[in-house]
Amino acid sequence: MLMDFKSTTTQKLVTYLFYISLSCFITAVLNIVHTVYALKIEFTAASFIIPIFTGLLFGLMLAHIKVLSERLGKMAFTDSLTHIYNRLHFAHFLDAEIDKVKRYGGCFSIIFFDLDNFKDINDNYGHMTGDDVLEKVTEVISKANRSADIFARYGGEEFIILAPETNLSGACIHAERLRNDIEQYKFPKIGHLTSSFGVAEFNAETDDVESILERADKALYMAKEFGRNRVEKA
Ligand code: GH3
Ligand code: MG
Ligand code: MG
Repeated sequence: MLMDFKSTTTQKLVTYLFYISLSCFITAVLNIVHTVYALKIEFTAASFIIPIFTGLLFGLMLAHIKVLSERLGKMAFTDSLTHIYNRLHFAHFLDAEIDKVKRYGGCFSIIFFDLDNFKDINDNYGHMTGDDVLEKVTEVISKANRSADIFARYGGEEFIILAPETNLSGACIHAERLRNDIEQYKFPKIGHLTSSFGVAEFNAETDDVESILERADKALYMAKEFGRNRVEKA
């Protein structure tokens, strides 16, 4: 998260510097050409100061528009609290992965998980602490996932992972590691927390988008039924 923050601040700085420099350069050149060739007068300090000041303002405006449009674009496919993919964008990845596996073969699995007794955290420590926990869980899971895994916030305190090229047993091993990582992590204020996992491997013969999600969700439901803090497979 800190790395993300640093890189977006650097990116913003680069964007601002780029647009301001470009704009200053263009306005200064235009003014020099205009002064020398059109007005045929010698240029003074004002020939530089005024266009550079105009360029600065114009560059600032352009950079600001660029940064805002990038932020808006990002909001369309990420969750505002955790900054991971939202449910809608996850659906696009899932559709694409299903098409890929049906056409070219291979496999993938879905890992669904839900925090245990999360309502108690909100009730006992407040909604803000609940939000902090959701952010921390996202960090813990993001660290443990492979870079090819697609991780999204599915609902309130429900998360989903699409694990490409991963069969059921591989996905269960991964889910067990994630479950353990959450259990071991000491969250500020609340201490320890557990989570329940449902895992399903896509079956190219019988599954579609709805059925693979339904099977993973059912497995998660079983994990809750069997006492929580566990991984169940479909
Ligand atoms: P279970 O072990 O059966 O999953 O119990 P639970 O208490 O976690 O489940 P339940 O679905 O009853 O409660 C989920 C809670 O998550 C209720 C809701 O207030 C909370 N929640 C949902 N979204 C957010 C959010 O964005 N921030 C916070 N702080 N809480 C949220
Ligand atoms: Mg829950
Ligand atoms: Mg829930």
